[in-house]
Amino acid sequence: MNQENSDSKKCPICGKSTHKESKYCIFHASAEEKTAEEFKEALKEYIVKIIKEDKDYYFERFIFIGDINFKAELNIKIFKNANFMEAIFKGNVNFGSLTFRGNANFMTTTFERIADFGYTTFEGYVFLELQYSRGILFLYIQSLRAILTL
Ligand SMILES: [Zn+2]
Repeated sequence: MNQENSDSKKCPICGKSTHKESKYCIFHASAEEKTAEEFKEALKEYIVKIIKEDKDYYFERFIFIGDINFKAELNIKIFKNANFMEAIFKGNVNFGSLTFRGNANFMTTTFERIADFGYTTFEGYVFLELQYSRGILFLYIQSLRAILTL
């Protein structure tokens, strides 16, 4: 335990402060190193900041735990340049009825449970290369320019 340096520990992936004993931040820490409750709380704060500052939705290599509904729970209506590259969803995830604007990057995104893209609108390019072992993928996509490598 080095109390002096505890505040300066940074996630090697994104530079955010590390989470508890993990060497990663709460978003990049493994599922075992965080609870669904604290993850969702941090995710809410993160998204509020993105919306307020009008930033891109950057979730590269995030490890999502618990069930997540982006529209109902996190109040996202439009994903601007969403990047879920190499992200892992441990629980069910719902992208239903929302709009992706700009690029939507799902390259080597892993869905371990249900991924629901019901009536999702993609206005820009979609990059899809999904890994799902036992998951179920619902795709009712209104897409103009999808690039699919399923
Ligand atoms: Zn991180």
